Amino acid sequence: MNDSSDLITLGRRIRHHRKLNGLTLDQLGARVGVVGSQLSLIENGRREPKLSLLQSLATELGVPVPDLLSAEAPDARTALEIELAKAQQAPLYASLGLPTVPASRSLPLETLESLVGLHRELRRRATESIATPEEARRANTENRLAMRLKNNYLPDLEQLAEETLATVGHSSGALTHRSVSLLAENLGFTLIYVDNLPHSARSVTDLENGRIYLPPASIPGGHGLRSMALQAMAHRLLGHQPPQSYAEFLQQRLEINYFAAACLMPRTASVAFLSAAKQRKDLSVEDFRDAFGVTHEAAALRMTNLATSHLDMGVHFLRVGEDGAIYKAYENDGLPLPADVTGAVEGQLVCRKWAARGALGRTNRTTEFYQYTDTPAGTFWCATQTGKTDAGEFSISFGVPFSEAKWFRGRDTQGRVQSTCPDESCCRKPASELAERWSSAAWPSAKLHAHILAPLPSGKFPGVDENEVYQFLEAHSAS
Ligand SMILES: [Zn+2]
Repeated sequence: MNDSSDLITLGRRIRHHRKLNGLTLDQLGARVGVVGSQLSLIENGRREPKLSLLQSLATELGVPVPDLLSAEAPDARTALEIELAKAQQAPLYASLGLPTVPASRSLPLETLESLVGLHRELRRRATESIATPEEARRANTENRLAMRLKNNYLPDLEQLAEETLATVGHSSGALTHRSVSLLAENLGFTLIYVDNLPHSARSVTDLENGRIYLPPASIPGGHGLRSMALQAMAHRLLGHQPPQSYAEFLQQRLEINYFAAACLMPRTASVAFLSAAKQRKDLSVEDFRDAFGVTHEAAALRMTNLATSHLDMGVHFLRVGEDGAIYKAYENDGLPLPADVTGAVEGQLVCRKWAARGALGRTNRTTEFYQYTDTPAGTFWCATQTGKTDAGEFSISFGVPFSEAKWFRGRDTQGRVQSTCPDESCCRKPASELAERWSSAAWPSAKLHAHILAPLPSGKFPGVDENEVYQFLEAHSAS
């Protein structure tokens, strides 16, 4: 019993029983062979009693030892005293450099309640402020750079996914809804589709009754639902606890996304598929996508996991919105991504000449768009696919350095552009006659990027309305 917070509870329980017995510190001390001041230190949780002393105290106080060691406060008032003592010992309070108030009997009840209330609020605010936009951007960037060092590859999760799939006999091709349900069953869960999930939740898991609630399929057969179910299971498989920081929240998101992707596109089968295509010099995101029945974005992202470790090449990935801003990006091939002073790439505008922007507005979405791009960091080749959601058009690009283009379908494209970004003269500087005509007459109002300024996650289940989740579970667990 080395935990100092447990010593506080133990001390309070000893004091409680001493008072019940009508003994002073000195009287009880004399009976067990220690001086009163020594006993006072124990009662205040500042000294740990030896087991022999604990036994003597139990005998003198007429209670069993386990009763003294119970983790519960003896009464409501003492519970507050313990909470105050623990809060004052915590690093959060210590960091303020303020004096501690002895949580003693002599403290008036309302003072005690007030102090405990302030400590609770202090803790709540500290937890909430973890998710400032700045903190979030920093955590995002650190995450991307950390994954870059690992070539975006997590062997442990690859193995876990393959082992999990083996329990339902799946190894290649599209993972069926049926197999995902069986996987859930093996983990002790039933998948339940409901149309009244809390608005802020993608899925809700009822650990007590072993249920995973998911939204109904908006597109029958789409891979979104399978992915969501796998992500929900991953939290359990990976032993996730409610995250203590935004960085931990992001890390968990990364892990569940990775696990789901590794289930939908298992490593062994994926590497075999991609290696064979490389040998034929016919690598393409779209074939990989179709072979495993996933979205273009999922397939392209998955290729960033496997390409460096298994196909021996650096790669890049971009998801860019119709405004030209980056939603998601990864590179370990040296592509010069635009970044702000903190190193964040989200929300940055990519060069107008890059295929990620050039391909937007193309009317033909059935085929990929191929392009070579000369940049200050060398020449890159990429394949870009465009799509449209309610939020507008977007493009997904997957690319490699010039030397690796030879393995890909589309390597023979004639399209080649020069990009000198971040040099202003590349695509940002307006033509001088236009600038002359308009510079003092134009007053544009900037569009804010919703994905960057959207409310950031905070609270016990970041980004999710805790109350709504509980109400939802309450209503459903009764049925
Ligand atoms: Zn440019």
